Amino acid sequence: MAEIKDIEVIKTTKSRFDPALLENPGFGVLFSDHMCSMDFSGGRWAAPKIVPFAKIEVSPALTVLHYGQAIFEGLKAFRTKDGRVNIFRPEKYHERMLRSCARLCIPPVDYNDFISGLETLLKTDSVWVPSKRGQALYIRPFIFATDEYLGVKVSDTYKFLIITSPVGAYYKEGINPVRLTTPGEYVRAVKGGLGSAKTPANYAASLLPAEEAKKKGFTQVLWLDAIEKKYVEEVGTMNMFFHIGDELATPSLEGSVLPGVTRDSVIHIAKDWGLKVVERKISIDEVFAASNKGILKEAFGTGTAAVISPVGEICHDNACVTINNGQTGPLSRKLYDYITGMQYGDEPDRYGWVHTING
Ligand SMILES: *Cc1c(COP(=O)(O)O)cnc(C)c1O
Repeated sequence: MAEIKDIEVIKTTKSRFDPALLENPGFGVLFSDHMCSMDFSGGRWAAPKIVPFAKIEVSPALTVLHYGQAIFEGLKAFRTKDGRVNIFRPEKYHERMLRSCARLCIPPVDYNDFISGLETLLKTDSVWVPSKRGQALYIRPFIFATDEYLGVKVSDTYKFLIITSPVGAYYKEGINPVRLTTPGEYVRAVKGGLGSAKTPANYAASLLPAEEAKKKGFTQVLWLDAIEKKYVEEVGTMNMFFHIGDELATPSLEGSVLPGVTRDSVIHIAKDWGLKVVERKISIDEVFAASNKGILKEAFGTGTAAVISPVGEICHDNACVTINNGQTGPLSRKLYDYITGMQYGDEPDRYGWVHTING
């Protein structure tokens, strides 16, 4: 167990809080009153502090602006019926943050600093955790290089911030299937590159292909492996699952796929439900063949923001398959209900994944 440290809290004198803001918070546009801030210099992280959410002044020569040495995380806090706040699997997100840090040469942040800073921030901004089902407080920890220097090198100084944003239900009417297309010539990540780290560079690489896909009416891009352009990898914000015959298959993590926490939760839960869950290579041809044979029951993406996102259609090389008649399938629905049930404290915390904060 981590020991929650005493953390300095500098409160804002100008709270922006208004309950009306939580009626329809949107996604990632509204920010709570405070943030957690911690600086690295002289070879060590200073203690985390809670400070008012505010603009930060930076040098135009800040290395992260030029060379992208940065990482981020994304997790959520939920308001339970009895008024407490649940964070879902914070250890797992922190563990991934450490792996991202290692790949980007960023000094690691201790779990104790991470969880103490986060808990204190959530207690300070408790009113910002919305209480309607489907709503949550999205938590965005991130670290960036702050040396002022134009040479390419590992920075000697960093800033770690946690900001939070009340978010509405990801889907207006329950869960709605998305349409995906493979990205033609473009690739997202290659084994040995940055694909398994949660770093802004991966998103920068995905913007143009995503824009082109959106112009053609697709929701997002379904990335294939960068070498053979044959195997399904992920969606860039979500990992992928295919219910084929009696098997629930997901692409294996081989260095170019981001190891999603929701992916890991789904694997555990589906196995406990008696499903045959396999992590393996899945070619796009297999997905199309399974659909033609009538054994592709469901496809869905997994990620913190949407939890489970059913896939209604996949297009590749001028051909398309419709999955489960473009409807949300029973397994997607059941997983969504079960995972959100655990997050809001309505289902028992069978796996010890729920970190509850009182008051
Ligand atoms: C964050 C992310 C995911 C989803 O991971 P979760 O931990 O389930 O939120 C999938 N792919 C990429 C590239 C991501 O950055």
